Amino acid sequence: MSTHVTHWIGGRPHPGAADRRGDIHDPATGRVTGTVDLAGPEEAAAAVAAAHAAFPAWRDTSLSRRAAVLFRFRELVHAHSGELARLISAEHGKVVADAAGEVARGLEVVEFACGIPHLLKGGFSENVSSGVDAYSVLQPLGAVAGITPFNFPAMVPMWMFPVAIACGNTFVLKPSEKDPSASVRIAELWAEAGLPDGVFNVLHGDRAAVDALLADDRVRAVSFVGSTPIARRVYAAAAAAGKRVQALGGAKNHMLVLPDADLDLAADAAVSAGFGSAGERCMAVSAVVAVDSVADDLVERIRARVARLRVGPGDDDRSEMGPLVTREHRDRVAGYLDSGVREGAVLAVDGRDHPVPDGAPGGFWLGPSVLDRVTPAMACYRDEIFGPVLGLLRVPGFDAGLELINANPYGNGAAVFTGDGAAARRFRNEVEAGMVGVNVPIPVPMAYYSFGGWKQSLFGDSHVHGTEGVHFYTRTKAVTARWPDPRGAAVDRRAGAVRAGGVDLGFPVNG
Ligand code: NAD
Repeated sequence: MSTHVTHWIGGRPHPGAADRRGDIHDPATGRVTGTVDLAGPEEAAAAVAAAHAAFPAWRDTSLSRRAAVLFRFRELVHAHSGELARLISAEHGKVVADAAGEVARGLEVVEFACGIPHLLKGGFSENVSSGVDAYSVLQPLGAVAGITPFNFPAMVPMWMFPVAIACGNTFVLKPSEKDPSASVRIAELWAEAGLPDGVFNVLHGDRAAVDALLADDRVRAVSFVGSTPIARRVYAAAAAAGKRVQALGGAKNHMLVLPDADLDLAADAAVSAGFGSAGERCMAVSAVVAVDSVADDLVERIRARVARLRVGPGDDDRSEMGPLVTREHRDRVAGYLDSGVREGAVLAVDGRDHPVPDGAPGGFWLGPSVLDRVTPAMACYRDEIFGPVLGLLRVPGFDAGLELINANPYGNGAAVFTGDGAAARRFRNEVEAGMVGVNVPIPVPMAYYSFGGWKQSLFGDSHVHGTEGVHFYTRTKAVTARWPDPRGAAVDRRAGAVRAGGVDLGFPVNG
């Protein structure tokens, strides 16, 4: 059955002009399973208009009512998490259990946002000057946009919109055109939870939709997650247009393995973090940096584990790793195996030979690969591969490993595997990455911390969700207030709140 996915604007499906459509594939078969409308300026304007119109009433909705909608939404997503996971798996290719994991991690942000009455508390100072009080309030920005990548079609949008909406903003989500269905199902669940029409909108499309959102003055802030070249471009355009912007980019996540590490733990971690979701995770480990004395041993342990991985369709419970998202991406990833060997790396495991017993011939299959003796000059190290290819680099010791990691232009996640607390502490202190793991390979922060990288993995100042998310989606207003005492000017004068004798042109000082 072929599906047709269209926009969700103002609380209902919005087919719009639909001049252009994109194909949706089942990566496990390679077949086209549906189409998605690709917005032009008209549909983008309609989505922003709906969000803009819904803003005043949503901003003025009490915190208790907003929290009540969030609680209902949380229950509905939880109840439909299996259905959402299957939708994601069918269009992305990842195994259903992994897709359920991303829904669960997204839900944690919804749960965090349920605490919005507490999170939006401002400050209050009584009598900052005689008879004068001061306080601060956190106010929403207006209509805001989220532009998200293919690899987490539920979780990454959920990093953004629960917090944005809880803060009183209205939201236009532009999800990836490669796996658009989950976002529409999420919109339906919002409606069922009682979210007013227009507070959450979904605009499908590609660059044209993004450009229209960036050009629209009514969009007050942009959250972007995707590859570094597009993140840089979106950041520059949004900032030039005067919008608040956070643009999370690509990654090359390293895992340093020291000689005193538990090598079984490290090998398990390298394999799960390298090949989970076929390496299509922004927090995937793609570079294992091993100290020479343990490198051969580690490669052998990784090789043994990789051989046992079951690659197959995402909806088969036995599969541990699914296909890649598109044919072009599969071919591009496989190209790094050839270029790595040409540049001198050793292909310790060739994923092109990995068995895929239940894989349809047209599926975008590529098994897990390990490139050993990679060096920083090689393309397979310099580029973000975003696929099931683990590169292994060898270093003489801790200092060389740390230096290598810090020389990389990306700075999303980094992990150290060691039994030495002092080495771990030094790594945590000196590594240039936004998220650090100690004997933990994918250190994705909990919802009440904030997620984000450093260097070319983030353009902007704010990480997503947690308190940084609340600050990103609000503006602070500081208020200074005097209420003359109703008993009259004499009382105010006695209290020093009003000067005798009229106006004073001096700069206000406190007394
Ligand atoms: P992508 O950059 O191709 O696309 C991301 C979004 O931008 C999509 O919605 C897409 O439609 C839109 N887009 C594509 N080209 C555009 C253009 N020229 N102008 C404006 N918008 C455009 O990324 P992807 O392939 O969907 O996702 C994979 C990338 O996302 C990887 O680089 C991965 O590291 C990154 N990612 C980063 C994080 C993070 O937290 N830092 C999280 C997930 C994914």
